[in-house]
Amino acid sequence: MFQKILIANRGEIAVRIIDTARAMGVSTVAVYSEADADAAHVAAADEAVPIGAAPPRESYLCGDRIIAAARATGAQAIHPGYGFLSENPDFVAAVEAAGLIFIGPSAEAIRAMGLKDAAKALMEQAGVPVVPGYHGDNQDDDHLAGAAEAIGYPVLIKAVAGGGGKGMRKVAGAADFPAALQAARSEARNAFGNDAVLIEKYVEQPRHIEVQVFGDGQDAVHLYERDCSLQRRHQKVIEEAPAPGMTPEMRAAMGEAAVRAARAIGYRGAGTVEFIVDGSDGLRPDRFWFMEMNTRLQVEHPVTEAVTGLDLVEWQLRIAAGEGLPLAQEAIPLTGHAFEARLYAEDVAAGFLPATGTLAHLAFPPGIRADTGVRTGDTISPFYDPMIAKIVVAGATRGVALNRLARALEETRVAGTVTNLGFLGRLARHPGFAIGDVDTGLIARDLAELADGVPEPALLRAVVASAALVAAGLSGAALEGFALWQPLSRDLVLACEGEQFCVQLRLHGPDRATLVLEGGEVHAIRHPEGWIVDGHRPLPVVKAGGAIYVFAGAGGTFGLVPVDPLARATAEGLGGDGIEAPMPGLVKVVYVAAGVGVTAGQPLVILEAMKMEHTLTAPRDGIVAELFVAEGDQVEAGAPLIRLETEEDIA
Ligand code: ADP
Repeated sequence: MFQKILIANRGEIAVRIIDTARAMGVSTVAVYSEADADAAHVAAADEAVPIGAAPPRESYLCGDRIIAAARATGAQAIHPGYGFLSENPDFVAAVEAAGLIFIGPSAEAIRAMGLKDAAKALMEQAGVPVVPGYHGDNQDDDHLAGAAEAIGYPVLIKAVAGGGGKGMRKVAGAADFPAALQAARSEARNAFGNDAVLIEKYVEQPRHIEVQVFGDGQDAVHLYERDCSLQRRHQKVIEEAPAPGMTPEMRAAMGEAAVRAARAIGYRGAGTVEFIVDGSDGLRPDRFWFMEMNTRLQVEHPVTEAVTGLDLVEWQLRIAAGEGLPLAQEAIPLTGHAFEARLYAEDVAAGFLPATGTLAHLAFPPGIRADTGVRTGDTISPFYDPMIAKIVVAGATRGVALNRLARALEETRVAGTVTNLGFLGRLARHPGFAIGDVDTGLIARDLAELADGVPEPALLRAVVASAALVAAGLSGAALEGFALWQPLSRDLVLACEGEQFCVQLRLHGPDRATLVLEGGEVHAIRHPEGWIVDGHRPLPVVKAGGAIYVFAGAGGTFGLVPVDPLARATAEGLGGDGIEAPMPGLVKVVYVAAGVGVTAGQPLVILEAMKMEHTLTAPRDGIVAELFVAEGDQVEAGAPLIRLETEEDIA
């Protein structure tokens, strides 16, 4: 076994690999970009080496610097994680040329599976079922149109170099073919520098079922399947193992096909063989076809770990160290059911727009597995994938595991950025998903309901009241309030989800309050865990970056911004000379330019955050000395936006 390995990755996967290495007594070396100097994976590793600037091209994709870091630190092997250099055969060759071990397959195996057309041809030869279609060299428009006709519509055009759903177009009929071909080609050219395409039969009610394989270069075994049919624009959202409705017969057929695929290329290490399955008539052993093989560890590997009880990273390390396959096929267990949900910083309602921000609060419920590369206080930067965590749960049955997933999502708390948490929660409670009626079109069909959580009026009142009490400086638990208590009556305005709520707050004693707000009056009682509003359990509240976050479980996370105190606080923050972003958001409009005169109260900038627009106004009369942002910029809470001229500027 190795004494020391280097992890050529970042985020949750780097942390996850480091955890297993540590458990195996293997020392770890992290690499990091300038943006990641304080990242969790750097803190988790025994040693860390800086490898360049924030953009991946200048750091995590610089194979030579990573190899140099391994040599300098005496690491014997390099684990690539997923993404970045994990499927780059030239990197594998360079690692081996440097006398190091690549924890993964050979460069040849990666090359064999790198292009979808060549991989399909190879699999066909190996007797693995492939999707009916055309994957030849002739890229002539008419020839491809003829091929589509022969296959029969609907068809799917795919980039041979494809990945991440790019360069892919579904075509319903011949009339749409030319335009779709052009669009797929141009997307493929831009994304992969290769515009060759293949044509496939579009599988109806498609399900994505993949098989985890491991090879030692000679033999191969499979660790059963994962169902990744819950997708949004061909991106996985929730994965599970085993696949709902799987029969022993189908499992055996798919497992055998996957192992045949791995053996055909003398596969070594962890890999995934992805199949598309026609789910229109249940799962049938003659209705699954090879799509592609991913020659690395997958994001969703934890569900396989949960149902097999095996550590896939441990297997990777043992195989790379030359130990051979740890278990024979018959000895690989399969028990219970597991789900993984991918928690992202993204604005679902705005079309799943990736978001950034500093995580003012991040907490997961006990008893679940949360694979994460960020902690409270860390930043989701625009440079990398905005994944916050993978939430993994297991149970004896699918029903139990799914309930646990829904519960875990309700109890996960993230503040400081918008997330897809509510969307995931609604997905976990989707009736079709609950009965295992999954296909890749489920999310798109029900997107409207899934994307938009409309809170119950009573819940919204409790949320606004809880936030108003905190905005007024009355935290539930604070006992010092006793001594300092004075009769209080205050009017507050809170902005939430594009709406403004006016609240009249009357404190009747140290631990009782009445709040009058739209839709009625609510009563609040102080409790060690927060304020009990109208008899409900206290809602957890966190103050961060100028906003107040209320965690209402299945009802969602609400970010509320006190409107009036905000303007004052901002003016005070810069000593009355400028404005800062009160929360992370997008600069929507900048009304002024450097050098122009403004009057107090004049709108300067519109900041869009948490689905609403905030107009930030001039705190006083003056001249704009400096403009720090432009329209379209994503800013952090507290980022300076504008500075007004001071006397020093003039002097
Ligand atoms: P990429 O490499 O770009 O991710 P894949 O070939 O893995 O592309 O396909 C991504 C997704 O597209 C699949 O998970 C599935 O949802 C859908 N898909 C792919 N091929 C077909 C097909 N022939 N019919 C229907 N859906 C398909």
